[in-house]
Amino acid sequence: MTANLIGGEWTGASGGRLVERRNPADTRQVVASAPDSTAADVHDAVTAVAEGYDEWAQAGPERRAEVLAAAAAVLERDPEKLAAELVAEEGKTLAEALGEVRRTPANLRYYASEAVRMTGRTYPAARGLVYTTRQPVGVVAAITPWNFPLNIPSRKLGPALAAGNGVVFKPSEVTPLLARRLVEALLEAGLPPGAIALVHGGAEAGAALVADDRVAAVTFTGSTAVGGRIHGAVGPARRCQLEMGGKNPVVVLEDADLDRAAGLVVAGAFGLSGQACTGTSRVIAHDAVHDELLARVVRRAEALRVGDGMSEGVHLGPLATREQLATVAGYVDLAMREGARLHTGGTPPGGDAVAHGHFFRPTVFSAVEPSSRLAREEVFGPVLAFLRAGSFDEAVRLANDTCFGLSASVVTRDLGRALEFAERVDSGLVKVNQPTTGMAMNAPFGGVKGSSTQTFKEQAGETMSHFYTVDKTVYV
Ligand code: NAD
Repeated sequence: MTANLIGGEWTGASGGRLVERRNPADTRQVVASAPDSTAADVHDAVTAVAEGYDEWAQAGPERRAEVLAAAAAVLERDPEKLAAELVAEEGKTLAEALGEVRRTPANLRYYASEAVRMTGRTYPAARGLVYTTRQPVGVVAAITPWNFPLNIPSRKLGPALAAGNGVVFKPSEVTPLLARRLVEALLEAGLPPGAIALVHGGAEAGAALVADDRVAAVTFTGSTAVGGRIHGAVGPARRCQLEMGGKNPVVVLEDADLDRAAGLVVAGAFGLSGQACTGTSRVIAHDAVHDELLARVVRRAEALRVGDGMSEGVHLGPLATREQLATVAGYVDLAMREGARLHTGGTPPGGDAVAHGHFFRPTVFSAVEPSSRLAREEVFGPVLAFLRAGSFDEAVRLANDTCFGLSASVVTRDLGRALEFAERVDSGLVKVNQPTTGMAMNAPFGGVKGSSTQTFKEQAGETMSHFYTVDKTVYV
């Protein structure tokens, strides 16, 4: 059982409404139940933070840095226990969960160091002093998805708190327990309870939070459909940062090392069961290597084991929800109707060990038409589409032929081609001979087109810290 945190008190939703979370690998197990918050609960949470965060804003950068670093240490106390909770609640494998559990405190330490680095400027003046100073924006709403329930919130709460803001955190209704763990760590580390509220719930709570005009900035990660709604609701007078979906391609040129290409395609497509915003969902292979690469990818995909993420030797855990499983199965049916050719997967695995979970086999299609929905829409599951290109120019054109632009990779031995690809591809992140997944925590992160808002990038760099601060120009 978890609860909302409002004004330092752990409470339920008004009317006692609850959402239950079950283990996606075995839905007979209840992992958590959490308040299904109403607009009234959200209103109370915003009031508590709006009235309570001043102590934190006044705490000064060094104190803020200490608290974030101390929260990192709390999260590092028992990584195996935390990772096991993450596996049970969200469904990734234990190795993937341990990776996320390690990354989250590292993020908090990075933002702790940023707290003492946010500088202003002085300007030449005829007399006196003209300078800019960086101040908190006020109440920040952080709305997050389920696929990285510690890592993504830490990339929002970390910089927002480093800059002295108050935060209302609305995590995904799918992963309430991990959200609570992050908030507990911050409180134990000494964050004043007035600086943070945790409100659980789904679309109703999220929409109420975005609509509250006491919220000065909304930082959101999730689907492009929900991001679009939030963008409309925030309006021009408030800040909004949206990190959304992807349809990330790996372009494999005729000179590529095919073993390396197959390895990074499989890692990017089937890691996290394909539930990563930067996951590989398209391979655009030059005609000369298409068939050989396809054969190698299919061979590797067939060697992957699907099962409960806590079991030894499992490569793909379950999909996080029943709805996600239905979406993936729906795209497979659609792809068959659209005339794509199925090489492997396409169904849930068989056997008693997976009878009670939302499992799906790694799935590979070829002969995917560039205009088909499988080639253009985000599936967010272990489904890979192969497309053919007759030339480098055609490969770039196909890579750019979706409404997304998050991560794109090119596999080639020709550095000039790789650099030309990096110039011409419509993508916020470009990888050369690397999977589309996997990011440095100290570099800007974000996409173009339908994948992100263009003004503020997440994770690191100038635009991140500017999102969470207001420049004030002072004349003395
Ligand atoms: P989602 O859009 O369904 O939900 C995200 C969050 O928004 C949840 O907390 C949800 O409760 C809330 N929400 C839903 N409706 C809302 C509304 N009307 N107003 C306000 N909030 C609302 O996404 P999801 O299924 O949790 O996550 C999967 C999606 O997230 C995929 O599209 C994936 O690509 C994307 N994602 C993007 C990134 C990135 O950095 N670009 C990272 C991870 C996931």
